[in-house]
Amino acid sequence: MARESRGKRNKYGLARDIPEGVKRLVRQRSRFGCVICRSAIYDYEHIAPRFKDAKIHDPQSICLLCPGCHRQSTEGTLPAHEIARAYEAIANSECVDPSRRVGFFDLFSANPTIMIGGVRFEGPGAIINIDGRDHLSFIPNCEVGGPRFVINAKFKDRDGRELFRIEANHWICGSDLWDVDIVAGRLIIRRRRGDILLDAEKSAGENMLVIRKMDMLVFPFRIVADGDDLHVWRYTSDGRGFIQLTLSRSSCRGNSCGIFCNSREDVVPRVGQLQLVGGKGVHLDGTGIWLCRGCNVALIGGWGVRAEGCGPKAPPPPPPDRRGQPFFVLGSLTSRVREYPQWTEVEYSLDGYELSDKPVTWGRVDVGDGAPRELCYLDPNEGAPLERCSGYMGPWADWFVDKPWADQVFEVTVRNADGTLARVKKADVEGRDVVESVDDCGRPLVPSVFGGVSPWRPRVE
Ligand SMILES: [Zn+2]
Repeated sequence: MARESRGKRNKYGLARDIPEGVKRLVRQRSRFGCVICRSAIYDYEHIAPRFKDAKIHDPQSICLLCPGCHRQSTEGTLPAHEIARAYEAIANSECVDPSRRVGFFDLFSANPTIMIGGVRFEGPGAIINIDGRDHLSFIPNCEVGGPRFVINAKFKDRDGRELFRIEANHWICGSDLWDVDIVAGRLIIRRRRGDILLDAEKSAGENMLVIRKMDMLVFPFRIVADGDDLHVWRYTSDGRGFIQLTLSRSSCRGNSCGIFCNSREDVVPRVGQLQLVGGKGVHLDGTGIWLCRGCNVALIGGWGVRAEGCGPKAPPPPPPDRRGQPFFVLGSLTSRVREYPQWTEVEYSLDGYELSDKPVTWGRVDVGDGAPRELCYLDPNEGAPLERCSGYMGPWADWFVDKPWADQVFEVTVRNADGTLARVKKADVEGRDVVESVDDCGRPLVPSVFGGVSPWRPRVE
């Protein structure tokens, strides 16, 4: 989505973040959906005045717009006065027709169908869950006047990088790197021209979502929708080998989870038996892969298992290419004092590589193995071959925002008991009220040492 670069505050000093109370009023006034198309996937948009000219966050001039309508608005094909008129009509009407919702992921039947690569998952619930975390779920919503489902989604690309998230029906595009195109009920996300990462379509009276193309890596699992086939991969821990379970022309009904991947279930992946376990679903023993988990009825049209010990390799991590930019390395930072005849110097090493200067650090991180490491942000001219460190991350903070230890690094603004504000690590909030947790693009706040310069991937317009 094309988006103007957004400052933290506008010329009147108004912060981009909208207070929660105002957001709630906006949601209520918008009747929980895009004011144009009634999609239940939305973001908050200043209409008249636009944010750049707004002096306050006025719930009357902020409404909900879905990504598709928002795009039309920024392209100018949907004028602000039209949006304002639709907003007023919805806010003032007693009855809003929910059937006009054509938002992409919102489905309207009590028993929606999600089809992923030729496998139909019928009924609400978790569609994709990996290690206990929903990557796509439609949970029936009991809130009066609210959308039918609480939708959560977390889509990644084949390198494990986040494409977008939907958190309780709030669409969050993590990065503008991707082209997110929603036209006539079809969602296409591209990395670049011709490189489609996700292709999905709403059909059958909007009770069905068909994901035709998807390739999502959540290591050690990979979920691939390719035309009529659904492949679920389990990689070996070194990423060199994999076991692949393929289903095609299959359907299941009333599942508790369509695709359930549990890496904790099996320590060493191996090819075991393909089992149809009554009441539990289809399980490839030795992989932690379950399909149609907990379904009442499963019809399996075609299936296959493929295993390879050493290749094709797992998609490699982002290439260790510094591109003349600062970069992150998580490693063990040590220092020693060197005595020269006339002076002393402190030398710093990271994972044993001697650094040319003292590195900037984002703080100490305990990744859970009891050996805290330093997250260093290093100068592009640093000569040590740090790409070889196992903790090499590359130039962007995007690559570790999802790590379990990220809360020890990213910050939030909290209100102290005496009313003053402070920036603290997310892990150190300690019960205080969080007043700001994301930047103006919805991304976690980085440590304030960078003075607002965030090392996020650059936007591609
Ligand atoms: Zn819309």
